[in-house]
Amino acid sequence: MYGYQGKILRVNLTTGKISEEKIDEEFAKKWLGTRGFGIHFLLKEIDPKVEPFSPENKLIFATGPLTGTTAPTGGRYMVITKSPLTGYIAMANSGGFFGAELKFAGWDAIIFEGKAEHPVYLYINDDQVELRDASHIWGKVVSETEKILTEEVGDKKVQIASIGPAGENLVRFAAVMNNGHRAAGRGGVGAVMGSKNLKAVVVRGHKKVEIADRAKFMSVVKEKIEKLKNDPVAGGGLPKYGTAVLVNIINQNGLYPTRNFQDSQFEYAEEQSGEALASKYLVKNKPCFACPIGCGRVTRHPAVGVTEGPEYESTWALGAHLGINDLASIVIANHLCDEYGLDTISTGGTLATAMELYEKGLIKPEELGDAPPLRFGNTEVLHYYIEKLTFREGFGDKLAEGGYRLAEMHNGVEYFMGVKKQELPAYDPRGAEGHGLGYATNNRGGCHIKNYMISPEILGYPYKMDPHDISDDKVKMLIVFQDLTAVIDAAGLCVFTTFGLGADDYRDMLNAALGWDLTTEEYLKIGERIWNAERLFNLKAGLEPLKEDSLPKRLVGEPVKDGPNKGHVVRLKEMLPRYYSLRGWAGDGKIPEEKIKELGLEEYV
Ligand code: SF4
Repeated sequence: MYGYQGKILRVNLTTGKISEEKIDEEFAKKWLGTRGFGIHFLLKEIDPKVEPFSPENKLIFATGPLTGTTAPTGGRYMVITKSPLTGYIAMANSGGFFGAELKFAGWDAIIFEGKAEHPVYLYINDDQVELRDASHIWGKVVSETEKILTEEVGDKKVQIASIGPAGENLVRFAAVMNNGHRAAGRGGVGAVMGSKNLKAVVVRGHKKVEIADRAKFMSVVKEKIEKLKNDPVAGGGLPKYGTAVLVNIINQNGLYPTRNFQDSQFEYAEEQSGEALASKYLVKNKPCFACPIGCGRVTRHPAVGVTEGPEYESTWALGAHLGINDLASIVIANHLCDEYGLDTISTGGTLATAMELYEKGLIKPEELGDAPPLRFGNTEVLHYYIEKLTFREGFGDKLAEGGYRLAEMHNGVEYFMGVKKQELPAYDPRGAEGHGLGYATNNRGGCHIKNYMISPEILGYPYKMDPHDISDDKVKMLIVFQDLTAVIDAAGLCVFTTFGLGADDYRDMLNAALGWDLTTEEYLKIGERIWNAERLFNLKAGLEPLKEDSLPKRLVGEPVKDGPNKGHVVRLKEMLPRYYSLRGWAGDGKIPEEKIKELGLEEYV
């Protein structure tokens, strides 16, 4: 099999048993990789109603067929599990160099099951695979963990994915980190890792990824890299200013959520834009494995030394979302989140919920004691509560549960800006209604990246669509974005390649690498299968579509007060039935038998 190593590692943390399993081409053609592999194993091997922190939940690290190749951005891996934040599927992907190294070690995926008795880490050196004691690094932040383990195994070239104290303390939005600052961020995958007493995966590989037709692959890759370099975003804005190049663009378009989505433009956006970051703190760009774009930022601040980021979402979540206008504090807060292993979006979202609950009088000052008041714009809040929630100290214990549970405890669920209990990212969908439908229907809850309708609605990729058009064309475009993103993820590539590449480009690279002859439609069918299988998992876990394919009341009921989208809400009720129908689903949002059959999912029902 080309593109794959054909082997999966299974590690039972309860018994210590380590075994290997083969995968074949039929399986690969059905699921492609990463999310596809992950959802197959979850549907086959766990009860979707399992308690996410119980040993019966499984944690899967999976690569794609282009991971570890020279395909542009071909270094991604994904962590898949049942989320302790949403109670549904979590699939979080990360760049850096870990994914490629896992592939070089000869493994397409690792399935962790059970729970270790004491902290452990997994050491992989090609076929040598061992569980080792991690008691001495339990409690350490991410940079220390990486430093100690690199010295311990005596090989500077190892790649490490680990959790920080947040994952150990079961903060429901803890991330899995690699290369210090790269995060498989969303859905609390790091907390599931912590629940299994698994501190890190340390990997070193010396094998190749075999390519079906190397000369053809090289020429296809060269052509795609050229396309990316000539694109104004992939070859211009992203390398120059990082993802935070979006701050000014999104703010000017009136969909930069401010003070927990109470406003849609931030008066200080320019001061914390990618341009401002570049002028004050940027040291250099840092690309992930095989990436010609290089959106990563190496930055420096006297308080933390050399660090990375913040990228767009983090800048917003720790800034405008909280009404905070102090780029230095945001840089430091972002660094803390990386060190503790926290998802920055959910960290900011939880704090924003807390601030509104406090300002509305639902969190009483007595509850905070001497801690800083949770007021929008209060910079003191940032570092103090990030620390407290990581270690579940004082009020931080409640914050560690995430925004939804916090709001529920204080009778203010309407102030939680999220979907399926996961905090929303940095786009007010009242200014991009197709994006709003994407939030509502996303399998992993409030998330932008699996259906980035900002591309057509604001940025004009692949062509410009009116952000307030809610016709069938818009709904169909969303479905294509969801299915295509599943293919890009499963291939092991970064979605930022969609600035410059289209569906046929991914087909070309996959076919040349794998020696397959699939059409673009056949790849999109794989994407549709993955999307539906994830939906099936959620339905089996108890998803109530008509109640939970939803948006916060504010976004469907409170018109934007000012700016370019003044007067708009998301007309979700008008779009959702058509989304179900165009997906081939029933009116109640469930997947009918004929769709299950069409996608070959009968064995998972
Ligand atoms: S575009 Fe950015 S996030 Fe994506 S692979 Fe390249 S450097 Fe990493």
